[in-house]
Amino acid sequence: MIDTTTALELVLLHGSMSTKVLEVDLKDGLDYVLAKDVISEIDMPPFRQSAMDGYALHIGDDATYTMVGEVKAGDNNNPTLQKGEAVRIFTGAPVPVTANTVVMQEKVTVDGSRITIEESLKENTNIRPQGEQIKVGGVAINKGTTIKGVHIGFLASLGVTKITVCEKPSIAIVVTGNELISPGGTLSYGEIYESNGAMLTAVLKELGYKNTFVVTIKDDYDKTKKVLKETLGKHDVVIVTGGVSVGDYDFVGKAFNVIGVQEIFYKVKQKPGKPLFFGKKEGTSIFGLPGNPAAALSCFYIYVYPLLKKYEGAEHMNLLTISLPLLSNYTVKGTQAQFLKARIEGAGVTILGGQSSAMVRAFGDANALVCLPRNSAEIKKGQNVKTILLPTK
Ligand code: AMP
Ligand code: MG
Repeated sequence: MIDTTTALELVLLHGSMSTKVLEVDLKDGLDYVLAKDVISEIDMPPFRQSAMDGYALHIGDDATYTMVGEVKAGDNNNPTLQKGEAVRIFTGAPVPVTANTVVMQEKVTVDGSRITIEESLKENTNIRPQGEQIKVGGVAINKGTTIKGVHIGFLASLGVTKITVCEKPSIAIVVTGNELISPGGTLSYGEIYESNGAMLTAVLKELGYKNTFVVTIKDDYDKTKKVLKETLGKHDVVIVTGGVSVGDYDFVGKAFNVIGVQEIFYKVKQKPGKPLFFGKKEGTSIFGLPGNPAAALSCFYIYVYPLLKKYEGAEHMNLLTISLPLLSNYTVKGTQAQFLKARIEGAGVTILGGQSSAMVRAFGDANALVCLPRNSAEIKKGQNVKTILLPTK
């Protein structure tokens, strides 16, 4: 059995990466990872721009200026100002080449075509220099960036309409178990509703992965082999839940073996998720997650999500980890390394109730997982603990 750090290292070492890139319209670029740097084709701002509603001046010798015109946003006039002259100007308007400062209107007294400035002047005040944000040829957004709304806004401001991104993985979620009934059906004694498929599909969607498929298998060795074989060939990442333990009806491990999945590791010293499996076959990365929904979700965040980011060529693939003081005492059950559903509040973190592997509800309140090393016993309020932030995108 390997430890949690080694398990994640092996996932990132062996998991495959996409080689396919595609060009998408900027407006459709959300959540994709950039496959190449976006280079700006313009200076931004494209001209010296007024940052205020006020007056553009050619600084003179006293506080009084003669008005010689007006420039508003969108105008393309460029009045020539002599020393001691001013134009009315508005936010976003091009500052005349011969003006050397802009003074905000609140600091000006107007008397017909004469204005008096009520503050001492400094050159280049309230003027956004041409190319202040980025110059022609500059890198606007780096390759490996996951595109968020703000990136789309910035790139739109540079006139970009298309971006080159990495293809998203096709992800199969394979749920296994004789006891599983699709919601909508009627439960007989011994049956439960299948929830991992719906949950992982939705969580993947939240994180920007929509190319997902749910496949259902009963606990039958031949069917498990057949369906897994077909599924592996069709997807980049396969996430199996359930059937990976050592029970008589857990067929997933045996099936992986005979259909030629190369095992990278099986079993990790952790709670939840001890029977975690990771392997690969040709270009497909394969996870066997525990069937218990909360355990499956913990393993998904800790091991599957970073691989999805790597697959897409993302620069940042690891979940953000910080050290925070615990807000109340916690007694650790068991000796394994633990991932505990937790909530960061203010400057500290609380370990939530409902930590059982089957209980997924606490994830609804969680924004983090507290990660305790092996053989942690009693953790006291105020003690710092490793806290992994759950991804929001
Ligand atoms: P397994 O890993 O197959 O031994 O399953 C462990 C526990 O998780 C059992 O109580 C299963 O009934 C439950 N379980 C497995 N798969 C699912 C699923 N897709 N949805 C809900 N519960 C599941
Ligand atoms: Mg099962």
